[in-house]
Amino acid sequence: MQVDRPGVLQKPLSVPDKLLMGPGPSNCPPRVLHAMSLPVLGHLHQETCSIMDEVKAGIQYVFQTKNSLTLAISTSGHGGMEAALSNLIEPGDGVLVAVNGIWGQRAADMARRYGGNVNTIEKPAGENFCLNAVERGLTQYRPAIFFVTQGESSTGVTAQHHQEFINELDKMYNCLLVVDTVASLGGVPVYTDQWEIDVIYTGSQKVLGAPPGLAPISFSPRAEAKIASRKTPVAVFYWDMMLLGTYWACFGTPRIYHHTIPVSLLYGLREGLAIVVEEGINKCIARHQACARRLYDGLEKLGLSLYVEKKEARLPTVTTIKVPKGLDWRLVQEYSMKKYRLEISGGLGPTVGKVMRVGLMGYNATMEKVDFTLKVLGEALEYARSPQH
Ligand code: PMP
Repeated sequence: MQVDRPGVLQKPLSVPDKLLMGPGPSNCPPRVLHAMSLPVLGHLHQETCSIMDEVKAGIQYVFQTKNSLTLAISTSGHGGMEAALSNLIEPGDGVLVAVNGIWGQRAADMARRYGGNVNTIEKPAGENFCLNAVERGLTQYRPAIFFVTQGESSTGVTAQHHQEFINELDKMYNCLLVVDTVASLGGVPVYTDQWEIDVIYTGSQKVLGAPPGLAPISFSPRAEAKIASRKTPVAVFYWDMMLLGTYWACFGTPRIYHHTIPVSLLYGLREGLAIVVEEGINKCIARHQACARRLYDGLEKLGLSLYVEKKEARLPTVTTIKVPKGLDWRLVQEYSMKKYRLEISGGLGPTVGKVMRVGLMGYNATMEKVDFTLKVLGEALEYARSPQH
């Protein structure tokens, strides 16, 4: 034996219970955690297939779509991005990406890797796109695919109120619209069919309250036709929607094994979706928005300022707070975690060092948790400003 049995694995597993008030993952409701402890079944067992059908119905509901090519990919949100782009893009296709934070930057990076001819329209961090900027981009580049992030979690910005207009423009310019809703779904309205969104995806670990590891995704018939008429195969077997769609019985043909679905995660997502269905998606969105308003008021009372100036551009699920001059935000984070096991996050990409981020998602979007977070923040600010620092 060259490698001894590791001592670390001879101790019990230790996982603390934390309150996850960052930009995701959020805490899973007990019902989701319980579901994941149920027995593992095979990936083509009849019961697994029924649960896949239930999950598909739940995804169609939260996305508000009747698209038959709707399923959950076994991956985190990044895999949703990869699948959306790798299926739509053939080498040389024009892709326009709206960049106002890290997610647009990453989408542009991925689109280039799949051979897209990528252009961007850009806005500074903290701002969203006006219709004119989108129209100028579409007129100038005439792309086949247009990518927009509905909830820029790195800056706390939502594209919400422009979505319908963007869709109108898309129709005029005949390009496929891809929308990232990883951070926004359930906190910001989205009507996939009504807005004629061609590809929409999200993550399981935010408002849906399941653990990370599954990415709900849906393709319109127009997007499906583009994939079906590809001249080259999708570059990544694992993302190939024609194969995945067959496994998920999206085409009315018998299911064929594609990969071994992480069935325990599937149970968790099934329950997360069931909870949203019980509440109703509109009520769920209204709850997130009401919690965000309470958070904004409380932050103001603490003397803090929001990073996103325009009220209507604020993303209810992820609030970005300006780091006050001279304050070490790491002390705020450290105090909250050490004393209360409460997670507050720093910035990401263009906002590193500039903001703290508070997430209100799913099980954690309650008035009680908002008030508790504000109380902890208040104490943490005092701690960070006290003379010993
Ligand atoms: N898009 C957006 C808007 C996100 O907020 C995130 C995650 N924070 C992702 C994509 C990537 O998701 P994941 O970390 O689950 O891969």
